[in-house]
Amino acid sequence: MASSSFDQLGLIAPLAQAVRELGYEQPTPVQEQAIPLVLAGRDLMAGAQTGTGKTAAFALPILQRLAPQASASASPARHPVRALVLTPTRELAIQVEQSFKEYGKHLPLRSTVVYGGADMDAQIRELRRGVEVLVATPGRLLDHVQSKTVMLNQVGILTLDEADRMLDMGFLPDIRRIIALLPKERQNLLFSATFPDEIRNLVKSLLRSPAEVQIAARNAVADLVTHVVHPVAREKKRELLAYLIQTRGLTQVLVFCGTRIGANRLAHQLRKDHIHADAIHGDKSQAERLEALDNFKAGKTAVLVATDVASRGLDIEGLPQVINFDIPHSPEDYVHRIGRTGRAGLTGEAISLVAPPDMEALAAIERLIKKKIDRVLVPGFQPDGGTVATLMGREARGASRRGDAPRVTASRPMAPRPQRPQGDPIFSKPYEPSAVPAAPAPKPEEAPQQSKRRAPQLAALLGGLKRA
Ligand code: AMP
Repeated sequence: MASSSFDQLGLIAPLAQAVRELGYEQPTPVQEQAIPLVLAGRDLMAGAQTGTGKTAAFALPILQRLAPQASASASPARHPVRALVLTPTRELAIQVEQSFKEYGKHLPLRSTVVYGGADMDAQIRELRRGVEVLVATPGRLLDHVQSKTVMLNQVGILTLDEADRMLDMGFLPDIRRIIALLPKERQNLLFSATFPDEIRNLVKSLLRSPAEVQIAARNAVADLVTHVVHPVAREKKRELLAYLIQTRGLTQVLVFCGTRIGANRLAHQLRKDHIHADAIHGDKSQAERLEALDNFKAGKTAVLVATDVASRGLDIEGLPQVINFDIPHSPEDYVHRIGRTGRAGLTGEAISLVAPPDMEALAAIERLIKKKIDRVLVPGFQPDGGTVATLMGREARGASRRGDAPRVTASRPMAPRPQRPQGDPIFSKPYEPSAVPAAPAPKPEEAPQQSKRRAPQLAALLGGLKRA
């Protein structure tokens, strides 16, 4: 077989074969850069989010470094924990460990995963067998340390995966307690999507002369993702969501909600609208979460409503759409959320339903991603005039002063719903064609009379109509 560029990274045959079997043809940028550094024994600080192939970027070289000590012996004593990977969530832990199993399938190395919310006994049985690679969430690992069901005194490689999220979730004290249990001489790898100050402090105290790998600019979002904002009144969000899913025939969409209760309620309401929807969040048992995820991956559920924490690390191949039903309060969560789409070279779409209370959060997101997101009015769901002014007017005025009209567009493909004018000047003022660049009239089958007229009218007020 022709040698892939994975071979050029210096991977040993059993690993090169495993990646070939998985159909990987080329290493991703983070793999290309990180693998040689980790193989050389360097500490590493890598800026890469989920979807970049970061798991293989640490799992492959870790397996290679452990390979010389691999033992075919059945004795647990011959299989001490040599590599420890800490992750923020159970889902990510499971996926990372699964990756170790897949990449290491031609090596006699063992791995297991421990996480909270699941039976300790089954985990203890696995640990007793002896494993070289342990993937864990911090809290549950400390439970095992406490009950003396795991020894960490032979760990030679520590990986913190999604370090920023672990810190967000308050795991720093647990991480420090775990680090104190490890041998001083070890290799440290830290992967993080973002580098707030706490992460930089952790890097300073933990890593020794680390090599740095940065995939995409700090806090940049995947170029393959198209972002769009649909302005809508808050109380119409659910209806708009159902409408988008149904009219666009969306069959695999991850929807984000701010709260667990909100996620449950939304999934329930969508089901009432005859949309196959399920929710995934921290109140669900591990079995329920895995089932929801499996059904979603298998296409049995069209919509998975998730909270930020539950979505962390979800790896759903080729996920085409992510919808922000609630806008995240922390702009960095937006980056994490849309990291679920536009992965592995595929294009994706990040849709945000934005009501007036979300405006500040939206502005913070745009500052962080250094991108102005298109506002697309969905006919029939345009907020009332006052709301439109809040959502777009102020901005349009500011932009026109700078001679930089916002890219506001009227939604084209949606079949609009009839809507009564709301008594606002936006709707009652006659249309003045000179105020806008010539806009194509929506096709008759796409837009009835009323909306045909309103879209350019609104666009005129908002700074221009983008041709779709
Ligand atoms: P990660 O960023 O580690 O969550 O990986 C995202 C997805 O990309 C996973 O489904 C991996 O199996 C896949 N992947 C990782 N590396 C490659 C590669 N070199 N070629 C193709 N797919 C890859």
